[in-house]
Amino acid sequence: MTPTALVAAARECRSNAHVPYSKFRAGAAVLTDQGDVVPGVIVENVSLGLAMCAERVAMFNAVTVGATPTTLVLAAPDTDGSPTWPCGACLQVALELGGPELGIVVADDEDGPHQRAVLGELLPRGPRVER
Ligand code: ZN
Repeated sequence: MTPTALVAAARECRSNAHVPYSKFRAGAAVLTDQGDVVPGVIVENVSLGLAMCAERVAMFNAVTVGATPTTLVLAAPDTDGSPTWPCGACLQVALELGGPELGIVVADDEDGPHQRAVLGELLPRGPRVER
C-alpha cells in the first residue's frame, strides 16, 4: 500500500463526513498491521463536545477489526487549502494504539504533496504504555 493510495482513501471518505455545524470535512485512513485500509470521518453532534475526529474514528475502527494502526493519514484541508495535522487528543490516542513509530501523513483535498512525520516527532514526550 502506497502513501498515495492511503491518501486517496482518506480523501474519498470525506464526502461521508457528518459536519452540519463546522462544514469541516475531514477524512482519515489507517493502514493496519494486517495490510488493510480502515477509513474514518469526522462525526459532529448538536452537543458539540460529543464530536469525534476522523483520525480517532479510523483508529477505533482498526481496533474494532482486531488490527494495529501502522500509518495514519488525515485529509482535512484548512480554509486556505493546506493540510491540517491531527489534534492533540488524536495524537495521544495514536500513541497508545500505534506507538511512537506510527507514520502520520497529512494531505489537502487536491493532488498536492503529502507531508509526513513519525508520531514520536509530533508527541515526543507523551506517556508511554505497554503494548
Ligand atoms: Zn483530533
